[in-house]
Amino acid sequence: MAKGPGGGGQGSGGGGGAAAIPQAVTIFDSYASITQQNLVDMALLPTALLRDLAAQGVQWQIGDRLIPDFIGYAGMRNRLTPDGRTYGSIGGMYSIIDSTVLAGGGPHGSASMVLHETGHAIGNVLGYHDSPQTRAAHAANWHKLPSYFDNTDRGRREFFAESVAQHAKYGREWTANAYGKPYSDYLKKTVFKGQKKS
Ligand SMILES: [Zn+2]
Repeated sequence: MAKGPGGGGQGSGGGGGAAAIPQAVTIFDSYASITQQNLVDMALLPTALLRDLAAQGVQWQIGDRLIPDFIGYAGMRNRLTPDGRTYGSIGGMYSIIDSTVLAGGGPHGSASMVLHETGHAIGNVLGYHDSPQTRAAHAANWHKLPSYFDNTDRGRREFFAESVAQHAKYGREWTANAYGKPYSDYLKKTVFKGQKKS
């Protein structure tokens, strides 16, 4: 796992990221590099967006652990994910039922665990999962992508969540090259409105 972006690290100066919404974030395993990386990544999202999500009841649990070891999720251990793994073997999810992002350790194929799962919160709570722009970008791109992003409602929501993580981590030129400039501009003007860089 690569180190976080250069510069001052998270929590500096402006109080962005998790520091902007302390009432909504529970941090475990504070000194683990995975925890630190997820906190650095979270600070790539605009502060106003995080505050909006928190105001709508979204919560985060962040740490170096798997889903059943977060508070309230022990019962998930043997349940199967849509792609046939057990929740006990993975470290990240977004729970629609209680609007909670879990971002822990374990294997994943995302640009960023916490940004992907927060992408689901953005998509679900703020309506982006099913917007015309997300539908158009998914329809134009799903056939070029892994089957995880297939031509289903689930695939579209995974596409949106991962595109949020990619836009935050790699920048808007990356999403423009991958999915077209209109969709990259859409993310820039909506989800990433007010973001300092990228
Ligand atoms: Zn997902």
